[in-house]
Amino acid sequence: SKENFESIQRVRKTLPAFKARSELLQIIRDNQVIVVIGETGSGKTTQLAQFLEEDGYCNGGQLIGCTQPRRVAAISVATRVAMEKGVKLGNEVGYSIRFEDKTTSRTKIKFMTDGILLRETLMSTMLEKYSCIIMDEAHERSLNTDILFGIFKNLLAIRRDLKLIITSATMNANKFSQFFGGSPMFTIPGRTFPVETVFSRHPVSDYVESAILQASKIHLSSPVSSGDILIFMTGQEDIEATCAGLREKLSEINTKKRLGNMESTELNDIEILPIYSALPADVQGKIFNCTPNKRKVVVATNIAETSLTVDGVKYVIDCGYSKLKVYNPQIGLDILQIAPISMASANQRSGRAGRTGPGIAYRLYTEDSFFDDMYVQTIPEIQRTNLSNTLLLLKYLGVKDVLAFPFVDPPPEQIVMSSLFELWTVGALDNFGKLTELGGQMASFPLQPSLSKMLLSASQSGCSEEVLTIVSMLSVPQIFYRPKERQEESDQARTRFFVPESDHLTLLNVFSQWKANNFSSAWCRRNFLQFKSLQRAKSIRDQLRTLMEKKRIIIVSSGTDWDIIRKCVCSGYAHQAARLSGLNKYVHLRNGLELRIHPASALFRAGDLPPYVVYHEMLLTSNEYINTVTAVDPFWLMKYGLLFYNVSRRREDVEDSGI
Ligand code: ADP
Ligand code: MG
Repeated sequence: SKENFESIQRVRKTLPAFKARSELLQIIRDNQVIVVIGETGSGKTTQLAQFLEEDGYCNGGQLIGCTQPRRVAAISVATRVAMEKGVKLGNEVGYSIRFEDKTTSRTKIKFMTDGILLRETLMSTMLEKYSCIIMDEAHERSLNTDILFGIFKNLLAIRRDLKLIITSATMNANKFSQFFGGSPMFTIPGRTFPVETVFSRHPVSDYVESAILQASKIHLSSPVSSGDILIFMTGQEDIEATCAGLREKLSEINTKKRLGNMESTELNDIEILPIYSALPADVQGKIFNCTPNKRKVVVATNIAETSLTVDGVKYVIDCGYSKLKVYNPQIGLDILQIAPISMASANQRSGRAGRTGPGIAYRLYTEDSFFDDMYVQTIPEIQRTNLSNTLLLLKYLGVKDVLAFPFVDPPPEQIVMSSLFELWTVGALDNFGKLTELGGQMASFPLQPSLSKMLLSASQSGCSEEVLTIVSMLSVPQIFYRPKERQEESDQARTRFFVPESDHLTLLNVFSQWKANNFSSAWCRRNFLQFKSLQRAKSIRDQLRTLMEKKRIIIVSSGTDWDIIRKCVCSGYAHQAARLSGLNKYVHLRNGLELRIHPASALFRAGDLPPYVVYHEMLLTSNEYINTVTAVDPFWLMKYGLLFYNVSRRREDVEDSGI
């Protein structure tokens, strides 16, 4: 509405970034690269792109691009900016994340994940369509942002007209400026309020429980109007547990009060809101809604550390941990770990309490643990994750010696070597480390190397229709729906789709049956399948299919021959193969790690376990579980030197299959 629009404009003018507008624009006119530093919430993300557009940077028909390390942030910010400008999302202001492009030819401001921009540099190395690139949240040091830095270093020398604006929290800002030859740093003046930090006196054994206690204490002892609560947790599971636990706790207290004839504070004075990446966008948007006469409790991952600002927070509760992807080169795997955050993150989290007034941050860890267990700064992703996808892109870009690439911080050589080995096993690199033709084709798919390999060998083997489905199904989370109250029933429903030798084929089976039932949502409900996930898989499938058509890659169906499909699945996972050893134990072929098949797998139910399997992912819980598993013939693995079989008759099979 018009009134809403006007009030938004009023608020916009109060942001610190707005006050620095003309000074900022002048520095940008005078320099090619600038580093903008500002407090979280000062308006960097929502305002900068708008300033640039207003200053004429789109007049030549070019775009302003703004990258985000997280998909959630890209969508949320685009939505906000479209609203501030009073335009429909997807027109002048749009966003693009993997498999979801909400931009048109009219788009002037484009928010995107850093991964999307990195992909675009493959297609159009000069990035001609952009006049300015804002690399937002650069201090997060996401892998893709770090790689883009190296690419820009060369690109900016050629495209003298391209502006690069790097926004960062205070940490790392100097490093970025140095990297680009001492480019100017501009600090948006802003004001923050003091935040008192309260450490836990004793180590906390269960941070979910402690957070629930702390939040209910705050809620019951201070008036709702004093301010909102922001709780930092690590991910979906502990966020949901905290939300549910807090609701339960408060209603318990209410019941007690009622029994004691005391005045009860009803639960309707509190709004508990989760936020994590797998949550649908409309639910995520709720954290920004005003809740008059209610206290908001936002329970978030570290996305609320700097990416999203919830105004009105007075209390922060920080569990002190976050989920971190860590690569183990010995095992050859990325493992999602819950690890202590860094001191810099801890301070950033506390700072969220002091945006609109003085605040309090409750840290659910001791002061000793702050100093002894935490790094000063988080280790950048490039130094701790698998690089095979990234190195494939760099090879595609013509970088011969990847160790000589201009990195802000170089990755450990061991990780580089192990990732290059992985690329070699899938045939993307030759014995000299050069990109093969296959590798080049793999790089052009927005998929991890194992999946693009699978898809390309399927095209050769005549089953690409089927593998397209499998790859798409693997690209969405949670196909099967398993509600707490009906677990047995849903597990039973799942077995109806099982293909005993393969979870990959099981996924294919689910999709085929859904298709046979006219993509019906009622059918999904009856069969405990997530309709939205399947829809998304279908959309991804359509996009990948279009891409294959464009590249003239053959798309055919193998009909009823599903063995050939398993061969192709196998070709993508040569580095993730295991051999049965003992009753229900497997050993990893490359590193000897002991593995078990996850109980939810179709293979687990089938009775006798197959002697050889490949797997899609590994979960580290109390056991090392492998998930999404397919039984394979050991001869299919021969080519990778993992197994040496002296059976010459079968060798031709291996060559013929094209894997
Ligand atoms: P920065 O990038 O400097 O951290 P932002 O531009 O993200 O700051 O935010 C500026 C202001 O806009 C903040 O007060 C924030 O709360 C508000 N804001 C951002 N996104 C939204 C949204 N989707 N809805 C409502 N307010 C928002
Ligand atoms: Mg921001």
